[in-house]
Amino acid sequence: MDIDVDGVAQQVSTGRLPGWDRVEALVREAHQTYSSATAGAVADYIPVLAAADPELFGLCVAEVDGGLHQVGDAEVTFSIQSISKAFVYALVCETFGHEEVLERVGVNNTGLAFNSVMAVELNGGHPRNPMVNAGAIATTAMMPGATPAEQWQQIRDGLSRFAGHPLELDEEVYRSEAATNLRNRAIGRLLQSYGRIAVDPLEVVDTYTRQCSLRVSARDLAVMGATLADGGVNPLTGERVVSAQVCTDTLAVLASTGMYENSGEWLFEIGLPAKSGVSGGIVAIAPGKGALGTFSPRLDAAGNSVRGQRAAAHLSRTLGLNVFASTARSPERQEQDR
Ligand code: GLN
Repeated sequence: MDIDVDGVAQQVSTGRLPGWDRVEALVREAHQTYSSATAGAVADYIPVLAAADPELFGLCVAEVDGGLHQVGDAEVTFSIQSISKAFVYALVCETFGHEEVLERVGVNNTGLAFNSVMAVELNGGHPRNPMVNAGAIATTAMMPGATPAEQWQQIRDGLSRFAGHPLELDEEVYRSEAATNLRNRAIGRLLQSYGRIAVDPLEVVDTYTRQCSLRVSARDLAVMGATLADGGVNPLTGERVVSAQVCTDTLAVLASTGMYENSGEWLFEIGLPAKSGVSGGIVAIAPGKGALGTFSPRLDAAGNSVRGQRAAAHLSRTLGLNVFASTARSPERQEQDR
């Protein structure tokens, strides 16, 4: 496919998923294989998350043509948490463009935990990337809207367009996090002290806490991811949510930072841009093909869902999703190329 960026025709090459029945069988196989994994622990630093059922496990692959393959608890809803950062980032990129967002929030991994204060200090008050809390709070502050209420409305509407239906706020999760998010408030104040947030940082953190409390399912995540995989067009509604260039920018940031300080290992094992959240969701995007949404609340030390990561590794290999995959040409192709 030819796309035109800055007047330069570009060739885009991505490939296809295997046929319907094969995808269906592999999603079931991945669910069955990892449903007995019990490693990891449910997040408890946001009090209400500790009550999550650790056995929940849902998978969904959304194809760019709107086909959905779901198994297990794929329609159980949970708070989106950090996965919201990816989609708010895309909305902000759509408004401000590549250069300005790059300058204001950066794109490099911190190598530190998602809620690190030190990462801000080590970088002279400049957030390193939009997928850790400091950069995400700075990104939320950039959302269009004259008041925090208008910004929140824009975020909710924007994320709902990615999902293809109105997303609801989980009031209980919001209240639980709002009552305990002292660290995020500290990060907001720190960014303000460096002149990085022009508006009231506590109001920005409140909007950020709301965006993290939107309810989604693994199915929603798959559809939201497939929108990024298909140049910004939602595969269910056909609505263009963001431009193709914004998708490319967002996916590049997810590849380097979406799985926190384990992003390198994830890329090494799975080879896909992805984002995870502390309530147990992961979205992994295969450009031009579709996306995988997973939900299972037990997390590893970096805060990434254990079953979700294993299922993603399995499906990346069996569905042929790894964007770095390299194989020798077939003998037939070698013959043709002669
Ligand atoms: N709302 C959570 C927080 O700010 C999101 C963190 C996450 O999912 N890693 O701590």
